[in-house]
Amino acid sequence: MIDLDQVLEEVGDATSEPKPPEEGIPKQWVPHWIRVSIRLIVLPLALLDLSMQRLARKIVRPPFIQKGGCKRRGNCCHYIMIEQGRGVFGKLYHFWNTQINGFYLRAKEPHTYEGRQVHVMGCRYLKKDGSCGNYALRPLVCRKWPMIEHFGHPRILKGCGFEVGVREPKKEKGFSLSILDQDT
Ligand code: SF4
Repeated sequence: MIDLDQVLEEVGDATSEPKPPEEGIPKQWVPHWIRVSIRLIVLPLALLDLSMQRLARKIVRPPFIQKGGCKRRGNCCHYIMIEQGRGVFGKLYHFWNTQINGFYLRAKEPHTYEGRQVHVMGCRYLKKDGSCGNYALRPLVCRKWPMIEHFGHPRILKGCGFEVGVREPKKEKGFSLSILDQDT
């Protein structure tokens, strides 16, 4: 079983690929052309979602800013946390992630993280050099990573190349203190 706390603490520094699941990486039974067609259909919706979020960030600035860039260590693609859904929607969500997005379960059992049940998944599209083999059609969860939201602490993997900075407050317009001093 994967120790999630350990994963989050240490995986960012990992320099070697984790072992595949004991029973191996299962084959996807949805044909390739269907997976690609579905991803092409949902791509405009994903891009619209991202644009809306960018617009929201311009209107209400989050307290943190993202700096740096990806070092292609691949660790964020080796350990993707996907919340476990319930009932029919949970099954559909699992189908979507494993068959359409190309993720696979690292362990069958879910883990508790921040009070929620999550599955840790790997990705079939991660290449040996740490780049994405599905970059143009990558899922929304990949496009949103690292997560720097308006509320809560930013989620970012240690050592991945991205960093989080605190947004500087905007300077007030008007006379500065030094100008006022010169006048007196
Ligand atoms: S689709 Fe690409 S970016 Fe997303 S987890 Fe897989 S390899 Fe990483």
